[in-house]
Amino acid sequence: MSKHMPPAHPFDDDKLKEECGIYGVIGLTDASNFVALGLHALQHRGQEAGGIVCYHPDHGFNSARRFGYVRDNFTKQSLMETLPGPLAIGHVRYSTAGSKGQTQIRDVQPFFGEFAMGGAAIAHNGNITNAEALRRELIERGSIFQSSSDSECIIHLMARSLQRTIPERMEDALRRVEGAFSVVAMTRTKLIGVRDPLGVRPLVLGQLGDGWVLSSETCALDIIGAKFVREIEPGEMVVISDSGVDSRFPFRPQKSRFCIFEHVYFSRPDSIIGGRSVYETRRQIGVELAKESPVDADLVCPVPDSGTPAAIGFSQQSGIPYAMGIIRNQYMGRTFIEPTEQIRNMGVRLKLNVNRALIQGKRVILVDDSVVRGTTSRKIKEMILDAGAAEVHFRIASPPTAWPCFYGVDTPQREKLLAATMSEDEMREHLAVDSLKFISLDGLYRAVGEASGRNKACPQYCDACFSGDYPVAPSDQIKNGFELKAAE
Ligand code: SF4
Repeated sequence: MSKHMPPAHPFDDDKLKEECGIYGVIGLTDASNFVALGLHALQHRGQEAGGIVCYHPDHGFNSARRFGYVRDNFTKQSLMETLPGPLAIGHVRYSTAGSKGQTQIRDVQPFFGEFAMGGAAIAHNGNITNAEALRRELIERGSIFQSSSDSECIIHLMARSLQRTIPERMEDALRRVEGAFSVVAMTRTKLIGVRDPLGVRPLVLGQLGDGWVLSSETCALDIIGAKFVREIEPGEMVVISDSGVDSRFPFRPQKSRFCIFEHVYFSRPDSIIGGRSVYETRRQIGVELAKESPVDADLVCPVPDSGTPAAIGFSQQSGIPYAMGIIRNQYMGRTFIEPTEQIRNMGVRLKLNVNRALIQGKRVILVDDSVVRGTTSRKIKEMILDAGAAEVHFRIASPPTAWPCFYGVDTPQREKLLAATMSEDEMREHLAVDSLKFISLDGLYRAVGEASGRNKACPQYCDACFSGDYPVAPSDQIKNGFELKAAE
């Protein structure tokens, strides 16, 4: 871990983590201030570091990159005054690719490049699955990398393109890239947004007065009062300038495979994805879960906060009362204290506490969004039993996470995933709970609006972390020994 950042808290390693949030604004005075607010609303997508690049006709390009929360850095007037102009992009980061766990300031995006036709900056959400091969090739051909981030490949590929304009060079560069990418970029006069042909990671377009906004999620449009216009389509590039929004589709068309886990966990519940409220989808997951795996009990309790909408749905469907059986300390920040061994042993108790008066003597259904390593689930179960619960039943709002993600989400190696090595029954025994049930993949698809479930021949979403069915072969990882699921 970087000497600049305190280590993550012990319970933080038992969730999949979205890697990045991206944001861009054109046509608004002091665009950086809007970008800072947008990044603040996207902080759940990356808490390790953030950066902003902006352009002002009199002051040129300026940038700032900082470790830590947006609110602790990009609210300072002294800093924001150095980021003038009507055009800015930003990025919040949780490191996965590149210097995993040892972020250096040079790895913090947006990245900037000076080209013959002017400067350009890019911010990338996703993961390039052929980055190792590209990097090797680029270095052999003379590129000098400044960071260990895979996203920097895009800038070097742009530098080598023979196209005339920066958007055309971006198209060229991104055609060489495999994996998942949503990109926000800027030149002196243009804001550019691109989504990979599968549309794995999100990107939306908003409007505020005469200005335009690109954002990972709609919740970050709301914070500045921008109107949601539409999602950027999979495989689409939008180039926004004084003349408006120009849309093009520079990639070979493919069937889209949006990340289904955005619905389950990554996106904020107040965001809208594909015309559906994330909150409502999560509530519906609880409804499906209650239909698939009912159990006789006294209370339905969420593991806060991400299990809350599914627990509400479970309670509504089952008729079993909903209760806040676990209370989350809202003020636990990364900077609270460094986890010494003693603190580490307290583990999850630092963040969650059982509402003893409610739980005592009760048969409790705990609803959580996912089980990754299972370490946190075990500790939560112990806390509930210590508080005197008569029975503990886990209901999980996603299918077993048995495969790592290579598309911009931090997952442990496959052997560390509980579901990769154990059946559902073995997991129940390992967690020592009275029952454990996950929503089925079909049930999850129904909850996101696919009435007949998953289309096996042509899945509507990326669900590789549950199914092992990777929409783009992760070529770097395969070269490094990762084995794809055998054909069924
Ligand atoms: S593997 Fe899982 S987390 Fe990764 S993009 Fe696919 S569904 Fe999302």
